[in-house]
Amino acid sequence: MKKIFVATQNKHKLSEIAAILTGFEILPDDPEGVEENAPDFSGNALIKVRAIASRHKGDWCMADDSGLEVFALGGEPGVRSARYAGRHGDTPANNALLLKNLQGVSDRRARFVTSCALVSPDGAETVVEGECRGEILLEPAGTDGFGYDPIFRPEGRDVSFAQLSSEEKNAISHRAMALAKVKSIIG
Ligand code: IMP
Repeated sequence: MKKIFVATQNKHKLSEIAAILTGFEILPDDPEGVEENAPDFSGNALIKVRAIASRHKGDWCMADDSGLEVFALGGEPGVRSARYAGRHGDTPANNALLLKNLQGVSDRRARFVTSCALVSPDGAETVVEGECRGEILLEPAGTDGFGYDPIFRPEGRDVSFAQLSSEEKNAISHRAMALAKVKSIIG
């Protein structure tokens, strides 16, 4: 079985990756202490994959970086999605700030984006992107998922990401779209 080293320790991400990249042995490797200070998702994904690729010459390596872009806010929260309100991972504060910043705004279009950066066994770098378009709701709905899921309604559905089962979300999510491209490259 081909191996792919993935620059994350996040169990949720690893199981989603394993569900899509079937036929591969998924091996986590922590990029430890790297600063994700690029101005965009692809830059941050490259920073993370380069941090582990030097340790795994001859095997595939991958890293991903994701976030939410709101059109009316010029693409914010963007690369600051996890720390939009200040503290990393403070989901209630991030969601509340986003709803506040969109008060009275009628154009609520947004998209989730994932960039996946790959390093091939011979050291070549590739970046692919997946997106899921939708809109920001007026108030949170649903309890499943994580992050901005309760306030994001994907196009073509009348419920939030947090009201979908993980199977339903994984069929349309930005991460799934990016990973499908990864699969077609490494498969
Ligand atoms: P990461 O790069 O995948 O860790 O994502 C960074 C941040 O973007 C997360 O902390 C969330 O705030 C947000 N985010 C990314 N993907 C999703 C998603 O599928 N649902 C909700 N929020 C997400």
